[in-house]
Amino acid sequence: MTDKPVVLMPEDIQRIMGKDAQRNNILAAKMVAEVVKTTLGPKGMDKMLVSPTNEIIVTNDGVTILDEMQIEHPAAKMMVEIAKTQESEVGDGTTTAVMIAGKLLENAEKLLDKKIHPTVITKGYRIAAEKTQEILQEISLKITPDNEEVLKQIAMTAMTGKGAEGSKEKFAEIILKAVKQIQTNGKVNLKDIKIEKSRGDGINDTELISGIVLDKEKVSVDMPIVVHDAKIALVDFALELKNPEIDTKISVSSPDQLQSFIYQEEKEIKDLVEKIKMSGANVVFCQKGIDDFAQYLLSKEEIYACRRVAKSDMEKISKATGGKIVSNLSELTPFELGDARIVDEVESGDDNLTYIRGCQNPKAVTILIHGGTEHVIDEVERALQDGLGDVICSLKSGLVVPGGGAIEIELSKRLREFGQTLSGREQLAVEEFASALEFIPITLAENAGMDPIDTLTELKSRHDSGERNAGLNLLDNKIENVLEAKIIEPYQIKSQAIHSASEVATMILRIDDVIASSGNNKGQMRGMPPMGGEF
Ligand code: ADP
Ligand code: MG
Repeated sequence: MTDKPVVLMPEDIQRIMGKDAQRNNILAAKMVAEVVKTTLGPKGMDKMLVSPTNEIIVTNDGVTILDEMQIEHPAAKMMVEIAKTQESEVGDGTTTAVMIAGKLLENAEKLLDKKIHPTVITKGYRIAAEKTQEILQEISLKITPDNEEVLKQIAMTAMTGKGAEGSKEKFAEIILKAVKQIQTNGKVNLKDIKIEKSRGDGINDTELISGIVLDKEKVSVDMPIVVHDAKIALVDFALELKNPEIDTKISVSSPDQLQSFIYQEEKEIKDLVEKIKMSGANVVFCQKGIDDFAQYLLSKEEIYACRRVAKSDMEKISKATGGKIVSNLSELTPFELGDARIVDEVESGDDNLTYIRGCQNPKAVTILIHGGTEHVIDEVERALQDGLGDVICSLKSGLVVPGGGAIEIELSKRLREFGQTLSGREQLAVEEFASALEFIPITLAENAGMDPIDTLTELKSRHDSGERNAGLNLLDNKIENVLEAKIIEPYQIKSQAIHSASEVATMILRIDDVIASSGNNKGQMRGMPPMGGEF
């Protein structure tokens, strides 16, 4: 035996163990939920975020807020991940997901205080989460793509209280039209709806373009501003002289030789443009560059051209106009060209945009948001994306649920009934899970200035007496049948939110040891207090 201490890890490793680790993680998660809480629902407030470079974002969108906050605490980061997953999986419900997770952890803490072991809590939560999904599926309502009225209401519910609020009816119609236009064999791909922004005019001028709007000007002022009956060539190679990769020396011994060299180079470009013209194209979108000489030739032929068009935009133009992207000009025949009634350049703020519009049966379309300032436009975009995401995921699953907290109260009620059938300590965890779901209607009421306790009591008693669609209508602060008040949400938002919230809550609960290497950041572990300290 020796008296020397055993050193397991280097000195700059920070370690928090047992109860401290648990409490610290729970506290961080709760704080994240607390941050977004005031933005929930139609009466939620906005946040103003200022980046290190002084860019300002004003938003109500959960994932945007958390993403911009540069959160460092490891458990808090896991909470932010839920919002991101929610955003990418369903496109809405980010605040809801984060809040449920925060509340699940807060309630778990109560059980920890009662000396209930974390593994018992996590087991109870897992049972509860499974049962909740089962009940949710059972009580969701079916819709078909023909239920346009319902789909419109879903889009409007998603946009209530956001930047798009004032024109939500118009936006809902735009969303529905866009989705109907691009769907093929009942499938809808969000990527086929382009959202483009135009400064100037009001948000009520936002429009659906049956085609694509590009954030690009034509390459030369000498090109036509408008092309009617556009025949569009889509090319993914450069219309310019070949640039040798390395410096090349050419020795010429006479002026004639030089002349013929230049002539040869120019001829290649001339041939390219000639081929484009021969195909019948009067518009060219090029994924690469177009040099001065090519611009000159194209202008002379009255061909409208844009260069350096993003690949994703090229694909959208192809879907909208029916044109094929060609990699070799010999492939370019009239059959590869796309069609649009008009291609033109339109002023927008300080820049110009290129509109490709009037496409016959386009399989990609553009929602062009108009607005006075960038902040307004950006927030409208986020709201529109929520609306789009909700309509698309309602179509996907064909299931919807009553909003305004009605579904959460009903789930919580049925989950409690189920809990009664369990024995053992898991029952307590199921009970806490049920009460975490009530956090949504409670917060909706609180944010709208209603008394949260009175509201919850009334909601519960109405559900107990069989009114399963009783929820909050915050347009006039009433408790009523929310389906009749047309407050409807997709099933998938709730299902995904509950799923990821319970997953992350159980994951955080199982951690009882945080070992963090501080890396270059000597001393304090990023975002964590010193061992055993308060948060
Ligand atoms: P999230 O990021 O979770 O989508 P939101 O701020 O979009 O958060 O709020 C969504 C919540 O607002 C949902 O629970 C929804 O049912 C509720 N909600 C939307 N419109 C209304 C309304 N008119 N009355 C009451 N609740 C509403
Ligand atoms: Mg939402």
